[in-house]
Parts: sequence; C-alpha cells; structure tokens
Amino acid sequence: MNKYDSLTLKQQLNKEGHYWVEKPERAELIIVNTCAVRLHAENRALGRLKTLIGLKKRRSNIQIGIMGCVAQELGAKLFGILHGIDFVVGTDQVDVIADIASGVLEPATYTNVNSDFFGLDTSAFIPKNQVSSFVTIMRGCNNLCSYCIVPYVRGRERSKPEREILSEIQQNINRGIKEIILLGQNVNSYKYGNIYFHNLLRSIITINGVKRLRFVTNHPKDFSDEILDIVKEYSQIIPPAFHLPLQSGSDKILSAMNRKYDLKHYMKMIENIYQRFSNAAISTDIIVGFPGETEHDFKVTLETMRAVKFAGSFSFRYSVRPGTYAASLEDDVPEKTKIGRLQQIIDLSIKLAEKYSQELIGTVQQVLVNGIDKKDPSLFKGTAPSGRNVLIVTHKSLENGDIIPVYIESATAWVLKGRDNSLC
Ligand code: SAH
Ligand code: SF4
Repeated sequence: MNKYDSLTLKQQLNKEGHYWVEKPERAELIIVNTCAVRLHAENRALGRLKTLIGLKKRRSNIQIGIMGCVAQELGAKLFGILHGIDFVVGTDQVDVIADIASGVLEPATYTNVNSDFFGLDTSAFIPKNQVSSFVTIMRGCNNLCSYCIVPYVRGRERSKPEREILSEIQQNINRGIKEIILLGQNVNSYKYGNIYFHNLLRSIITINGVKRLRFVTNHPKDFSDEILDIVKEYSQIIPPAFHLPLQSGSDKILSAMNRKYDLKHYMKMIENIYQRFSNAAISTDIIVGFPGETEHDFKVTLETMRAVKFAGSFSFRYSVRPGTYAASLEDDVPEKTKIGRLQQIIDLSIKLAEKYSQELIGTVQQVLVNGIDKKDPSLFKGTAPSGRNVLIVTHKSLENGDIIPVYIESATAWVLKGRDNSLC
C-alpha cells in the first residue's frame, strides 16, 4: 500500500512538472514513505532519514520530508527526533506534498485526520513495459486487532467509490497494464453504498483488457462464498490465489489478538476453498511470540500451517506497538524464544512453498510475461496464476503482457522453470 501511495505521489508530482532523479544526492526534495507496523520497520525508516539529512551538510537547499504511518504516528515529535527534517505529512494529507514542492504551502506538520480521504486523485505512476499495477480500493481498518497500529495511523475503514476504481483501472489498461492488483487492509470488507467486494469484482471483469485480476489482503472473518463463486466463474482471469492471514493457530491467542475467528472457522474456509479449487495457492501471515504464547500454542500454529499447506507465508516476531491494546499486556515471550520460533516458521514455510511449487512440475501454467531474466537474458520471465515467478525457455520473442502456456519442468520454493508450450 505504501508502494502504491508513493507511486501515485510520483505521478502527481510528475504531472506538476517535477522530475525524478535516480540518486538522493541530486534531489532538491526527498520524501521518505514509512511503515509503522513493526518497530523494526519504523527504526529502519528513521535510520534512513538520518543518513539523508546528512546530505544537507554539503547541500543546504535540500528539503526532506517524511510521509506515511510513522509520520502519522509521531507527528511533530519527529522534529525532535530527526534534526534537519523539513516536513511531516500524515496518511490523510498526502495531497499537501505537491503544494509544499511548489512553494505554495510552508513545510510543516500536516497530520490532520480526514476520513473522507481516498488517496490522491490520480492513478499510480507506471514505468515503461510494466504489465501489473496496484489499485487501492479501500483504506483504513475497523478491526482493532489487539497488536496492530494500522487503525490508529491509517484511520477508519472507508471504501473508494466504485466509479473511481473502474476509471483508474481503465486508465491503467489504456497505458498498457494487463494485470490489476487490488489493495486494501481487508479488500473483502469493501463496501460502497450497496456494492460489496464480489459486486466490485464483477464490474472490473467487464473492463476489456483486464487479463488478470488479483487482490490482497483478505480478512478470514469476511471471506465469503460469493467471492469463491466469482473466482470459479472467471478463474482464467481471477486465479484461485488467496492471501488469508492466519496469525496464529491457537484459539486462545486468536481471541487475545481480537481476530474475531477461531481455528475451526479458518479450517472450514480452507476446506471450502480446496473443495472448489484443488490447486488453490493459499498464503498467510503469522505472528510469533504474542503475549501469552506457549510452546503448545506455537506447535498448534506449526501443525495448522502443515494442515493448510500454505503456498507462501510472511512471518513476524511480535512487536509492541504503542497505543494498541496488546501494549498493555506483558511482552512475556523472551526475545530468544521469539527468534527461535520465527526460524521454525520460516523453515516450515520454505518447505511448504517448495512442496507447492514441485507439485506444479509436469503441469502447463498460463504465464503472464513481464520481462527478461536478469541473471540469464536468454530466458523470459513471468508470473503463473498462483503468483509464482516463472522462467521461460523459448525460441520465440515474447512481448511483455503476453499470456503463454508454459510446461513446468523444475521448481524451487519460489521460482518455476519451464518451456513455452505453444511451441509444441
Ligand atoms: N489487514 C491485514 C494485515 C495488515 S498488517 C490482515 O489483518 O490480515 C500486515 C501483517 O503485519 C499482519 O498480518 C501481521 O501479521 C503483521 N503485524 C501487524 N502488527 C504487528 C505487530 N505488532 N507485530 C508483529 N507483526 C505485526
Ligand atoms: Fe491490523 Fe487487524 Fe486491521 Fe489487519 S485487520 S490491519 S491486522 S487491525
């Protein structure tokens, strides 16, 4: 989502006559977009800003600003933490940056909450030859998971009007995009008037030129059969690839996290998915070391991962976030234990990913071509419907955006390799 916000800002600044430089040393304006979801991400952003502020020693006319969730979280306090910063722009105020850049507005702190803000009124910047683009359909979150800072920094949930989404997608298609990736904290909670997420999917499908449609992320409590029905109907365009963050396999921890589902609900949903799509690619997020997580709770998470056969997992050590409910609980899992558990989750997720990929050997995958492999320029590369990267052996000259059948011959955890099957 931050990437999308940065790309829409880039597009807006470009439109207003500003241009991009490859190196910060050459810039007159530097903006760092930030994530506050874990302390580690926050510290990295602040460290990067400190380094960039160092550039002012040689060139005092550079303006440096911070945007995104850390800006929203810490606001004007950042002037005390980062000496030399010029402006702080929160998540609902991104539209002030163009005015700061052109000198219409003073560089200062802009962090007012505006719950009508749907993002900049422009689509994302699209580099030449790109085939996929993000489109944000909703912002914020009402779920208040006990560990999560998102509702405090991104604000309450609001859905972008359907007509704006369709028009943004049409603009992207006109600029050569073939694959649209819908974004939201919980895309399946989308609701604008009486339009729900599955209605939105149906409308997008009617746009000529959308060759592939994906969406992240889904909240397990809101994942409906209607979504599965439309994926079934249009699986050539909407692949059965679902990101469904589990967080923990233990009901005790899920309840303490305020996730609003239990393991039984989650597993029923998974069964439902596999019944319809035996080849579904299901991926997840896992947090280890949440307060109160015992060895038993952790083991149940590992077992659940095996039972679901996740094709991919993002895993995190629990990080205390100020202002959240969980921050009032004792962070009682020792750091060493958290690190050990995280490693076990990572090891298992690689094994499961490998298994998923290897099961694709001998199948033909419809691959969306998106370029040439950097390491071996004799190979084209693309993505399979599952989202896996694919290296393609072919004698033909493929174009970015082509969808071609590829016979998969080998696989590692994250990359498939095969030959162009249209040659057969
Ligand atoms: N809305 C999405 C998640 C958005 S945040 C959902 O609920 O599924 C992305 C991921 O960051 C979360 O799924 C969670 O696994 C992780 N995360 C969020 N807050 C965290 C924290 N305080 N510590 C560790 N991981 C966290
Ligand atoms: Fe955070 Fe929970 Fe909302 Fe996801 S659903 S953004 S984890 S509060």
